[in-house]
Amino acid sequence: MSDPETGERLDDGLVLWFPAPRSVTGEDVAEFHVHGSRAVLAAVMEVLRQLGLRLAEPGEFTRRAFLNGKLDLLQAEAIADLAAAETEVQRRQALRQLDGELGSLYQGWSHRLTRVLAHLEAAIDFPDEDLPREIEDRVLGETEKLIAEITRHLADGHRGERLRDGIMVAIIGPPNAGKSSLLNRIAKRDAVITSPVAGTTRDIVEVAVDLQGYPVVLADTAGLRDSDDIVEQEGLRRALQRAEEAEIRLFVFDTRCPEQVQGAWTWPGPDTLLVANKIDLIAAPADAPTHSLSRLRGRVGEGVPLVLTGEQPNAVLPISALTGEGIDALLAALGERVAQTCRVEAPVLTRARHRQALEEAALSLRRALSAALPELRAEDLRLGLRSLGRITGTVDVEDLLDVIFRDFCIGK
Ligand code: GDP
Repeated sequence: MSDPETGERLDDGLVLWFPAPRSVTGEDVAEFHVHGSRAVLAAVMEVLRQLGLRLAEPGEFTRRAFLNGKLDLLQAEAIADLAAAETEVQRRQALRQLDGELGSLYQGWSHRLTRVLAHLEAAIDFPDEDLPREIEDRVLGETEKLIAEITRHLADGHRGERLRDGIMVAIIGPPNAGKSSLLNRIAKRDAVITSPVAGTTRDIVEVAVDLQGYPVVLADTAGLRDSDDIVEQEGLRRALQRAEEAEIRLFVFDTRCPEQVQGAWTWPGPDTLLVANKIDLIAAPADAPTHSLSRLRGRVGEGVPLVLTGEQPNAVLPISALTGEGIDALLAALGERVAQTCRVEAPVLTRARHRQALEEAALSLRRALSAALPELRAEDLRLGLRSLGRITGTVDVEDLLDVIFRDFCIGK
């Protein structure tokens, strides 16, 4: 590889030529494989610049691939997700979307809706006659079916979006129970300052962790207790709000004060795990965690029988955030709960943008059902079709492109 002007040798490398249209962008593409040092890159880039070439904008390759019909918008977004994926499950979800799973689902709906619209428009074109009954029935029947399918798809509990953004786990409990210490244990680093003075975590601290392939955002919250301190009250308000919003809650309490657990039942149900901390302070130098568990059961059972009823034999997870005892079992239980929260079989929507467009589509179709005139019904169906088209990028998405490709990194 040498400078075409001076003939100076720059590097030994490999050049791959992908002629249009069978390249990744659909255009002629040349790939230079060179030794990656800064000096080699600088020399090669300078020569290329003199030839009139420039660096690509972030996301430009993907954008060109989209504009040349190599990808739909969902696949373009999947590339961004793949590049940003931090955990195994996120990677898999992005790959499924890149394979076109979601795109085929939405395109299928678009095709069916186009057919319904075509039938209706054909019927409208015979103005002298009333709309044939059977066409009307078919239009209404298929529209109803589409609404039902879209609605079912929307009612997915936001699983795909959660997987993209991380599953929220709020650590709650009374002050000094060891919430910050537990978060540090799990995050394996000192993300939160722990302190023996009650009420130090006045705001919410979040740490993103990879839990068995799932992206989890752990939020440490202010201790739940009544306080006159105005800052602490605000912390408490936020803690309660975060606990409400979270998909899963870890209620941490001091093993020596089992009566603290009563508060946990503000959030009953399987999504609150009870964590009995500081077992090192009650257990004998026991090596067997089960020993601590049975002792704990005895203690907790005296005060709060509700917690340890027969149906919930594992309701309490005994740990010591200080020594690390019980943490693996806690993580296993939490991982299982997280996996249940995000279990997906059918393709799920992954972005608020898709959700919004689908909600609009369903709304238009519902309006179509109750429209008084066939012409109005056709117009509503057309609006529904446009909303679906905006997801995959088959109709007017010019205004969306900058927003979508802005978040890409250079070279994608
Ligand atoms: P938070 O207010 O619930 O966040 O509680 P912290 O994590 O700040 O802990 C309060 C105090 O309890 C600190 O002094 C910790 O070192 C101590 N602590 C936390 N977990 C344990 C534990 O498992 N065993 C013992 N002995 N002390 C703990």
